[in-house]
Amino acid sequence: MRILVVGGAGYIGSHMTKMLVETANEVVVLDSLVSGFRDAVLGGRLLVGDLADRALLDQVFSAHRFDGVMHFASSIQVGESVRQPAKYYRNNVANTLNLLEAMVRHGVGRLIFSSSAAIFGEPERLPIDEAHPVRPLSPYGRSKWMVEQALADYERAYGLRYVTLRYFNAAGADPLGMLGERHEPETHLIPLVLRAASGRRRAVEIFGADYPTPDGTCIRDYVHVVDLCRAHLLALERLMDGGASGAYNLGNGSGFSVREVIDAAQKVTGRNIAVKTAPRREGDPARLVADAARARRELGWRPVYPALETIVAHAWAWEKKSTAAPIQATPG
Ligand code: UDP
Repeated sequence: MRILVVGGAGYIGSHMTKMLVETANEVVVLDSLVSGFRDAVLGGRLLVGDLADRALLDQVFSAHRFDGVMHFASSIQVGESVRQPAKYYRNNVANTLNLLEAMVRHGVGRLIFSSSAAIFGEPERLPIDEAHPVRPLSPYGRSKWMVEQALADYERAYGLRYVTLRYFNAAGADPLGMLGERHEPETHLIPLVLRAASGRRRAVEIFGADYPTPDGTCIRDYVHVVDLCRAHLLALERLMDGGASGAYNLGNGSGFSVREVIDAAQKVTGRNIAVKTAPRREGDPARLVADAARARRELGWRPVYPALETIVAHAWAWEKKSTAAPIQATPG
């Protein structure tokens, strides 16, 4: 397949690009490098540019006949989205519409879209399946849901077929240690816990120890980045085979508390991790756990790395590599 990977220099997109190249696909990466890294693109051809640039999109789609597009590029911080909603609606909604319109103009009819468990808001029941009510609590979650709604309308009117994948907590790293999580600033739990283990940080803060959960800390469903990428590949293959559009929740179906993640990291690293209790972070539901039965049934998705310790071990290998030869601090 010939595939455009938008945001292919970012965390999940770079793992996807690697997988697509390894499975003998032709890949073009489009990334602004605002938060992605040039050296994370391990294959294919990198074009540096922004989805705001509609003329560039026309050029890219005129130069290549893509079988499908995978769209990973977005702003991803829930807290920031509350303070700067304009950035989220611009980057995640308006820029995505530019991409969709370019696809329609150029007759590219298959899209895999990165959505999020954040569309569900505070869960009514667990685990969360696709029939669960959608009530996003933040501009970030709303921006993802707006695109999902637009996609349904675009399909009806323009025949653009799509699969939207709602990631629960993406984590882990390339099992061979060639890629890993590299957000600047880093806000995600597992890399921050591992920075506390390696000494890059003094301690990890627990955002709220008074939630209605067994140990008082938030419960999340951590899913390996490589397993997420496999779901993208299966989803695109489904569309190539003429399968219908759809939305899928992606997680392992088991929840771990913040304290359990820290315990797993202490076990994997053999190091003591200093912990501080801090106030709750705005917009964090107490528990998020996925029911991924539809993805298993319709896509044939089977996570290969469901164990939290494997996820943490792969992330730890990347953290050690990053501390041994410090990675560049600024994106680009
Ligand atoms: N978390 C925490 N300390 C941190 C970062 C995150 O306690 O330094 C908690 C956060 O409140 C949430 C969980 O860890 O309950 C996972 O957060 P993350 O930002 O990794 O992913 P999110 O759930 O926001 O997608």
